[in-house]
Amino acid sequence: MGLQPGSTPIELERQLSNGSIDRPSNAEPQWTIEDSEELYRIRGWGEPYFSINAVGRVTVSPKGDRGGSLDLYELVEALRQRNLGLPLMIRFSDILADRIERLNACFAKAIARYNYPGTYRGVFPVKCNQQRHLIEELVSFGKPYQFGLEAGSKPELLIALASLSTPGALMICNGYKDREYIETAMLATRLGQQPIIVLEQPEEVELAIAVSRQLGIKPILGVRAKLSSKGIGRWGHSSGEGAKFGLSIPEIVGAIEQLKAAEMLDCLQLLHFHIGSQISSISTIKDAIREASQIYVELANLGANMNYLDVGGGLAVDYDGSKTNFPASKNYNMQNYANDIVAEVKEACEERNRAVPTLISESGRAIASHQSVLIFNVLGTSEASSTVPEPSAEKEHLVIRNLYETYRSISLENYQEAYHDAIQFKEEAISLFGFGYLSITERAKAEQLYWACCQKIHALAQKQEDKPKDLEELDEILASIYYINLSIFQSAPDNWAIEQLFPILPIHRLNEEPTKRATLADLTCDSDGRIDRFIDRLNVKSALELHPFSPEQPYYLGMFLVGAYQEIMGNLHNLFGDTNTVHIKLTPNGYEIEHVVKGDTMTEVLGYVQYDSEDLIESIRRQSERALKEGKISIFESQMLLKNYERSLRSYTYLT
Ligand SMILES: *Cc1c(COP(=O)(O)O)cnc(C)c1O
Repeated sequence: MGLQPGSTPIELERQLSNGSIDRPSNAEPQWTIEDSEELYRIRGWGEPYFSINAVGRVTVSPKGDRGGSLDLYELVEALRQRNLGLPLMIRFSDILADRIERLNACFAKAIARYNYPGTYRGVFPVKCNQQRHLIEELVSFGKPYQFGLEAGSKPELLIALASLSTPGALMICNGYKDREYIETAMLATRLGQQPIIVLEQPEEVELAIAVSRQLGIKPILGVRAKLSSKGIGRWGHSSGEGAKFGLSIPEIVGAIEQLKAAEMLDCLQLLHFHIGSQISSISTIKDAIREASQIYVELANLGANMNYLDVGGGLAVDYDGSKTNFPASKNYNMQNYANDIVAEVKEACEERNRAVPTLISESGRAIASHQSVLIFNVLGTSEASSTVPEPSAEKEHLVIRNLYETYRSISLENYQEAYHDAIQFKEEAISLFGFGYLSITERAKAEQLYWACCQKIHALAQKQEDKPKDLEELDEILASIYYINLSIFQSAPDNWAIEQLFPILPIHRLNEEPTKRATLADLTCDSDGRIDRFIDRLNVKSALELHPFSPEQPYYLGMFLVGAYQEIMGNLHNLFGDTNTVHIKLTPNGYEIEHVVKGDTMTEVLGYVQYDSEDLIESIRRQSERALKEGKISIFESQMLLKNYERSLRSYTYLT
């Protein structure tokens, strides 16, 4: 029925609301990019690097507020034309540069603001992302700030030693150490490096003294303290008395005695602590700094030649953009962080008449997260059936009649009760099937009716202000599944292992309403290989709003802020290998591809588990020959099989 001519606005509204006319499509406010911004919270976690442009695509501004931006969808299309298949990791070198500049600028500002009579010299913890191109860029971008590196293991020490070429930059040597580690670190001073060996275990004190005597090198030493101020959240146990690393206060006092006896107390110049990663609350950081500042002053009072205070990592990333102390967020910004460190340390030193230290931070996550974006495509979807089966002409089983009746009767008055009825009847149907009283077609009908009830109830419940709590599970039950060309175990292992949240959203169609709600299922045949927790304004949501998928149109999703820890912790579950990676740098008239790092081929991942591709091909060849002889395969089929097998070995482990 159409609009009746001459209707007054009130009549019109009545006709619309009683359903006697169709609401014209322009009466619904159009979906705008602002709606998408709000829904995916991109301003909260994305600024100043990620936003949405007028045509509804994600835009990347790798230099932050200093101009120049790229349409991410166009970039992905251009990279695909260069034969770079999805999933694809895109690194924006300019973002890395911007993060380093920002961190240094924040400390410079804090130092100026509080008249701090000392300096800041940061280091990047190599464990956060060891990829060579990234470390090389980092060292180069960090040159103006004498930005150094932190090693947490012997192999990372080898990286730091070979890569750091900045005069005056520090090389902080953390982690478990054997004689070889300490020797290598001390010998690095002969190359003009500035290694600081941080004693983390009581045994390392004797070892450092012995190696120093043997080599005739006076090292700079540090101690890592186990603070009693505990971090909170996921990595809270990195500090406190039970922590894995660091010396307790009695052990520190013991180490001082040992160094004094060896006439090496002047070597002890640094105090280090690390209370854990992703510290969401500024008060936790303040408590730790306050305690560490006191220890620092006391060490100086005991005669150590204190020069450096290393506050470790922990500077958090706001993954959900909520600016709260929720684990996926943080209730402070980088400037607050720098201000609090500078102010607390200055106050503690002034009160006790001690010179202030050079401040060091080992911020990994805060530097490396933003520069990597992971792009992947949707392969297909599966949605809960929404068809109501036709009633049959014959008399149906009672349980099916009950479900029909439940479906018909659902109303605003009874929907909660109807939901419990539907569940009960469905369970009855399954149990009847188990005893042989219901055929498989009858069971199918019962299940379809159950789903139809759920959808009708959900639609009603959605519109209610105070939706009953027990209906919230419908959000989850009725969500579609979107199958994604990705392995969570390889590309977002923390999402699986520690339920970390990363922002995920389509990188195009953002001017179109996302009418579906979905969880994401990855390529692995592991039921854990799915994403069903997403960032939300409060807490988390169990399904992500997405657009209807059609197989003819590529649908690209981006996972953001994945530059820290994910790559090296990723594993080869189901033998999905490293993804393709590109490094993109902004130029005055566009961008250039600095590096392409091809993802693993099947030959490579099979090699990790000791399969030689020649042997594998040989096995297939032999089987084919035998089958040919026995007349079970044609020569055409056997050639096709071999060709496919050989081509697969050379190609990407993901779907093309
Ligand atoms: C992991 C680690 C870091 C890095 O922590 P972020 O929270 O990523 O900044 C710094 N220092 C030490 C000793 C670490 O173990």
